[in-house]
Amino acid sequence: MKEKKIIYSREEMFKMNKKKLEERGVTLEDIALIAYKQQSKYNPDIELSTCLESVAKILTYRDIFHAVQLGIEIDILTEQGKLSQPMQDILAEDLGMFGIDELLGLSIASNYGVIGQTNFGDIDVNKPGIVGKLNKDGKGGKCHTFLDDIVGALAAAASTRVAQIQSEEVAEHDPNIKQLQMNLKQKK
Ligand code: MG
Repeated sequence: MKEKKIIYSREEMFKMNKKKLEERGVTLEDIALIAYKQQSKYNPDIELSTCLESVAKILTYRDIFHAVQLGIEIDILTEQGKLSQPMQDILAEDLGMFGIDELLGLSIASNYGVIGQTNFGDIDVNKPGIVGKLNKDGKGGKCHTFLDDIVGALAAAASTRVAQIQSEEVAEHDPNIKQLQMNLKQKK
């Protein structure tokens, strides 16, 4: 019997995530655009390509791979009517009081701390770009119950990651921090 493959490399996980998202009508650029819109309010100098790099990076992490793949799988099975009741109807109707989709989104965003979580909350409430489109399309025929939260959370994570990298760059150019680093080195 062929051995089952359940562990994937980061490169493989990235490719599978990208493919799965695209099959569901979401490009990495769509996600980067939301991250860009959110983060450029605080950092007007950032570029869309930086946000896109962050989206790509985040899609290589194992925890995030599992969340993306599982959430999308549930949406697909729901669309195909393959779940049993009561979950079939609850998910197909995208019941507002069902919160496990948000919980999955929150688990993705939580990789980037409290700021990641609040950034996810902002996207969840305001539904910018592709998130709004997914939400609307999910009301007719399609099931995007998990996908809209996954995409919002990936955008929030990417946006927060960009902010973290920016802070590190600022810190590196701060003469006080440079001095602190030198002192630490001398102590070692
Ligand atoms: Mg949802």
